[in-house]
Amino acid sequence: MTHQDYQEMLALHALAALDQADLRVMQEHLATCAECRADLDGWRDTAGALAYVAEPFEPSPQVRDRILESVRAESSHARVPANVIHLKPTSPRRLSLFPRFAAIAALLIFVTLIVGLVILWQQNRTARTELARLSAQNEEVRRARERDQKLLELLSSPGTRIAQLAGTKDAPAAHAILAYDPKSGRAILMTDGLPPAPAGKAYQLWFIVGGLPLPGVVFATDAGGKALSANQVPAEALQTAVFAVTQETASGARTPTGPILLRSMS
Ligand SMILES: [Zn+2]
Repeated sequence: MTHQDYQEMLALHALAALDQADLRVMQEHLATCAECRADLDGWRDTAGALAYVAEPFEPSPQVRDRILESVRAESSHARVPANVIHLKPTSPRRLSLFPRFAAIAALLIFVTLIVGLVILWQQNRTARTELARLSAQNEEVRRARERDQKLLELLSSPGTRIAQLAGTKDAPAAHAILAYDPKSGRAILMTDGLPPAPAGKAYQLWFIVGGLPLPGVVFATDAGGKALSANQVPAEALQTAVFAVTQETASGARTPTGPILLRSMS
């Protein structure tokens, strides 16, 4: 056998797939050929590296089906031209070696392909999760900016009235500001320090005109008791009214049922 023959057997040797006779002649050749020894080290590194990359994974059914499909297509292709492959005459040894070498080479390529697919699939999944997170974050920022802009518009427009609401004994840490346009009734309520509402409960604004409470917006607060909500002051309450906040069911009430937690001075 020539040096070239041994070169082609090195991958099999690295995978411990040589039979006894081949192994003996290979070892004899390796003792005299530095190039083959170096190449064998390379093949062994490759085989070892493959074992490390092949971590457990969970490919999607679509990816698995695609792989299986391509393998089936590959094997049906391989069967048809089988009699066309050996055009040039080869030595008996190389003829017997070739199918095994080809099978192992195909297996190596197949494993590399699967590892590559799995890595791509994982990267794709991570990217999609990150994209969803970023677009949710972006939407939140956009909404906050829209709110701030509306608030700024209202606060800076001439004639806007600002009512301060103070916490009662039932919510001593709470305070709020109601900014409203006395012409259109457009209003924004900002609260701070309200106690967290229990599940199924929320807060509601009331406009008290001549002792009669008119229902306003129902709103939820964040963990710090803060809320910023758009409101519409009813026409009856535009000239003179007391503004108050109570805790009600999350769907709101027609008349206040809970104690007043925030109340304007006037
Ligand atoms: Zn050699």
